[in-house]
Amino acid sequence: MSLFQEAQKYIVGGVNSPVRAFKSVGGEPPFIERGKGAYIYDTEGNKYLDFIQSWGPLIFGHCDSEIEEAIIEAVKKGTSFGAPTKVEIDLAKEVLELFPHLELIRFVSSGTEATMSAIRLARGVTNKDDIIKFEGCYHGHSDSLLVSAGSGAATFGVPSSPGVPKDFTKHTLLAKYNDIESVKKCFEKGDVGCVIIEPIAGNMSLVPGNAEFLGELREICNHYGAILIFDEVMSGFRASLRGSYDIYGIEADIVTFGKVIGGGMPVGAFAGKKEIMEKLSPVGPVYQAGTLSGNPVAMSAGLAQIKKLKANPEIYKDLENKAKKLMQGFEHISKENGIDFNYNVVGSMFGFFFNSKLPKNFDDVNKSDTKRYAAFHNKMLNNGFYFAPSAYETGFICTPMNENDIEATINTYKQIAKEI
Ligand code: PMP
Repeated sequence: MSLFQEAQKYIVGGVNSPVRAFKSVGGEPPFIERGKGAYIYDTEGNKYLDFIQSWGPLIFGHCDSEIEEAIIEAVKKGTSFGAPTKVEIDLAKEVLELFPHLELIRFVSSGTEATMSAIRLARGVTNKDDIIKFEGCYHGHSDSLLVSAGSGAATFGVPSSPGVPKDFTKHTLLAKYNDIESVKKCFEKGDVGCVIIEPIAGNMSLVPGNAEFLGELREICNHYGAILIFDEVMSGFRASLRGSYDIYGIEADIVTFGKVIGGGMPVGAFAGKKEIMEKLSPVGPVYQAGTLSGNPVAMSAGLAQIKKLKANPEIYKDLENKAKKLMQGFEHISKENGIDFNYNVVGSMFGFFFNSKLPKNFDDVNKSDTKRYAAFHNKMLNNGFYFAPSAYETGFICTPMNENDIEATINTYKQIAKEI
């Protein structure tokens, strides 16, 4: 019996997060035993070049010695106190120092918690219930945000899940990504207090926001007095050191962060201007809490990673060059084989589409050939290259990935392209 079959006897679907079950690409997921640098190793002794990197956090790859050391040192002092620790201040300072428009932060344990809490805070501040989200953007699985979500929710065709009461989602208005007219219509339709968006959408593969569109979004929120939330759970510290802020220079009212600021440990956070954040408990009336929030081991891992990123800002250019090289190689081979192919690269993130057009929104993304993606995935995996098990996810480059790794990936795609 494979570990996947055994797991299904005890764990629903054999996994603790749906996309890991490989449902949309077929086959059984390998069970991972360990990772080192750019590679992971499964329980059968297979080695894979890892383009997932735990879905983003591991910018320096698996088992980076400095992050590992920080975790071990923290564990020696105790794993959790449920009481304030200094390392929370240290990480807060490191994050806030990078963003002039973010004055206070609150740490949580996942991206889902970060966006859910940010929405509650925005509603509490504006006293308005309606929110706008965008088709294809994923903000975790809290009830009011599980509407036309990308990522796993898109893969499984469950735009709004059973178990979410209609009453909970009737305040969620859906707009089209990169389409300001659809946003205007939502503002006219409802009493909108808040807009949440991934400025660099990484849950419908990778679709960056158009600069003009994001600028107009900022203006329309100002006009209506609505709070603009940038969900940078994936793009923060990944697309560049300061995420979308480095790329567009747009100041959101609240920014949510996630996995990347935990260096591979479970962390999320949301940050904003003092006047907004001080509405949060215990200073203000909007309630939010967490037993393991600000966990010292997770904070120490995040602190080690952020310090290393700040000390080596040049890595982003290098990661982007590698991502571009990979995508240009894939594009060339696709052309040779008559395969429709388009791609996006933003810093260390890449996304590609078996699609004749480069998608600008979720409708466009949905025209991509997902059957071909599944064939691509299976064949690359069998050759030792671990890509996301869904066409709706983003790929990630890490610093230990070298030119030879990228070339080997391109060469393998060359070999399998005829068969997909
Ligand atoms: N927001 C974004 C943009 C995400 O990509 C994700 C997860 N991929 C989440 C929120 C939810 O984070 P988590 O899985 O840690 O709850």
